[in-house]
Amino acid sequence: MRPVCERCDAPLAPDSLAARICSYECTFCATCADGDLAGSCPNCGGELLTRPRRKG
Ligand SMILES: [Zn+2]
Ligand SMILES: [Zn+2]
Repeated sequence: MRPVCERCDAPLAPDSLAARICSYECTFCATCADGDLAGSCPNCGGELLTRPRRKG
């Protein structure tokens, strides 16, 4: 699990609700994903979804 946004280097904690991830595990923050990226991964074109939080 990547600890930072690939685009703006914002820190993304394992339990962060602001983390977005595509099916290839490209990781972005909510600000980038919901803003400039408009929900699409700039690397592979996949859909960016809320990253499941690590449990325990
Ligand atoms: Zn970002
Ligand atoms: Zn991707």
